[in-house]
Amino acid sequence: MIDRSPDKSRKKRIVILGGGFGGVYAAIHLERLLARDSAVEICLVSQDNFFLFTPMLHEVAASDLDITNIVNPLRKLLRKTEVLVGEVNRIDLPNKQIVISHGYRNHSLQIDYDHLVIALGSITNFYDIPGLADLAVPMKSLHDAIQLRAQIIRHLEEANSNSADRQALLTFVVAGGGFAGVETVAAVNDFVREALPFYPNLRESMLRVILAHSGSVILPELGEDLGRHTQKVLARRRVRILLNTRVKSVTENKVFLAYRAPIPCSTLVWTAGTVPSPLISPLPCAKERGRIVVNHFLQVSDWPDVWAVGDCAFVPDIRNPGKAHPPTAQHAIREGRVVAQNIAAALLGRPLKSFSFKTIGLLASIGRRAGVARIFGFNFSGFFAWWMWRTIYLSKLPGLDKKVRVAFDWTLDLLFPKDVCAVYEPPHRRDFPWKHAKDVVGDNGQSPAGTPQTIPAPHFSARSLSP
Ligand SMILES: Cc1cc2nc3c(=O)[nH]c(=O)nc-3n(C[C@H](O)[C@H](O)[C@H](O)COP(=O)(O)OP(=O)(O)OC[C@H]3O[C@@H](n4cnc5c(N)ncnc54)[C@H](O)[C@@H]3O)c2cc1C
Repeated sequence: MIDRSPDKSRKKRIVILGGGFGGVYAAIHLERLLARDSAVEICLVSQDNFFLFTPMLHEVAASDLDITNIVNPLRKLLRKTEVLVGEVNRIDLPNKQIVISHGYRNHSLQIDYDHLVIALGSITNFYDIPGLADLAVPMKSLHDAIQLRAQIIRHLEEANSNSADRQALLTFVVAGGGFAGVETVAAVNDFVREALPFYPNLRESMLRVILAHSGSVILPELGEDLGRHTQKVLARRRVRILLNTRVKSVTENKVFLAYRAPIPCSTLVWTAGTVPSPLISPLPCAKERGRIVVNHFLQVSDWPDVWAVGDCAFVPDIRNPGKAHPPTAQHAIREGRVVAQNIAAALLGRPLKSFSFKTIGLLASIGRRAGVARIFGFNFSGFFAWWMWRTIYLSKLPGLDKKVRVAFDWTLDLLFPKDVCAVYEPPHRRDFPWKHAKDVVGDNGQSPAGTPQTIPAPHFSARSLSP
């Protein structure tokens, strides 16, 4: 829908790139702050039409939660924002424009902005390790969790009916001993062991679940004590932990490790590295470890109308000069709020606010009603930490309906065995439609993909923000 009415020509457009924690919370707060300002429009561009609650991703992979319970439609969360589902292809800072492609026919669209919020997050880093990008399952998107769940079930099925490759099929290696890796290995371990009664030819002694970590203790963010405690808990549950271990290469049936014997394995989960969105590196602005350097107002240096938040931003920690805030959801949410306040302040000619936030706590669920947590500097473990994990994350999950659904799933999980239907395996990667639609002519027969359609700021269709 493109509104070309001339009376909207003086509207200021705020474009937010990314529908994750940083982008969505920026939009939510902008909607509130600018609700009465009909001269401003907000547009959010994201490749998915939903917001993903990553802290519960491993629960989808391990069949604890239904797939759609940890995602929320962006259109439901953002009632006064124009949501554009598409791939951001280019950010043109000098011309204040972004280029996106959208739809199965890969239409190109240019969008002008007055203020830009870059919240594109990060992607998995495979470090050019041979075989890794093709064969490992990352743990970053909903697609990854669905793929992992389906792959685990498929391998259990195959191992049950075919004894030839059993060892590789029944070995599950997770690389990376940070939060995502530990929570994933714990959940996968519970899942495969609880699924076993459905597979009469398989025995528990055939299963191997391994966590490979490059450091000397897992969960380094939680400190050595909790890391070692977690190692003991996982080892008791028959997860083998390989410390100071790096993956060297991967084939379909083997994982090769540096200075260790290769492991016969056909499921490798890779959680050992992320890198900021590839759209960041060509930008003509300062970067630190690939992230956009912003000042304490979250403004990109030399580009006062450009802001960055979340995992793709290097946000200085004003309490610890020279250091940056860690890339976590709890920071991205707060950065989203401050960036909204600062954009509203900039539009109204008011002073900007500095971003400052001290991590309240860190929690990890380590399977079977056990957790570890560090809150206000105090360590917790066991059932109480797990209960806190569930309570806190349930309260943070957006949407009352999703909260209720997750609470129901958790309750049902106590009563019934896990679901082992491998029904949701996506047949193709997320970029499938784009790749195959490259040379297709648009619906109108005139605008071939790659010829961007330009929509200058005054004519864009964003809904009015007037109440
Ligand atoms: C498995 C897992 C568990 C985690 N658990 C926790 C936890 O318990 N607590 C915690 O604080 N943090 C956790 N995190 C980290 C947290 O998810 C991130 O720090 C947070 O998501 C960062 O928010 P963001 O907005 O910067 O990026 P994201 O939330 O990743 O959002 C980026 C958005 O940009 C979109 N996007 C990217 N590229 C494009 C493009 N080219 N075109 C269009 N759209 C694009 C994406 O689709 C996405 O919507 C976890 C992360 C993972 C992967």
